[in-house]
Amino acid sequence: MGRDIGPDCRLCRREGEKLFLKGARCYTHKCAVARREYAPGQHGIKKGKLSNFGIQLREKQKVKRIYGVMERQFRNYFLKASSTKGVTGTTLLQLLERRLDSVIFNLGFAKSRKDARQIVSHHHVTVNGRRVNIASFLVKSNDVVEIKTDAKTLNAIKANIEITKERKVPGWFEVDAANCKAKIVRMPMREDVAYSVNEQLIVELYSR
Ligand code: SF4
Repeated sequence: MGRDIGPDCRLCRREGEKLFLKGARCYTHKCAVARREYAPGQHGIKKGKLSNFGIQLREKQKVKRIYGVMERQFRNYFLKASSTKGVTGTTLLQLLERRLDSVIFNLGFAKSRKDARQIVSHHHVTVNGRRVNIASFLVKSNDVVEIKTDAKTLNAIKANIEITKERKVPGWFEVDAANCKAKIVRMPMREDVAYSVNEQLIVELYSR
């Protein structure tokens, strides 16, 4: 599956808010959103009023960028959410949260979602004892996610846990940080999403 390989900070500046794509740097004065509060590009400094469509589009782009998902895959998540019982917007966010790379990030095993994706794709993660290298793998209740790798990588991941310890681990995990292991005790709920997102705008956009 494809991914955005452009500069991360540019994406945050386009959305006009911190999306925390770069790990530790995002919490420092070096953050590009804090230093340049305007959109990137030649005309970024001019601010126009957004239409309804523009507002909906920006919200969708923001969520796609937070989770590092490209358009086609994102639309597939939406289709899956809309054909599932429940509130479509909430189900969409739940699906994104259940991705294995997102889980690794939320557990604090990686400083950014991009790093989390790399940890998964480099075969460092097992789910219920089986190695999984697919970032979009969806975890479910009672799954056990564990880092199983060489000592050097394990130490790097333990260092990440130390760096990210101020980030609150959502309540749908039971974490054993010392062993880089966690159990999924329940499915994520709307309150577990750490970002300020108006998912209804995305539903409206795709329902046009
Ligand atoms: Fe976004 Fe982080 Fe770059 Fe700030 S430092 S602009 S939050 S990716």
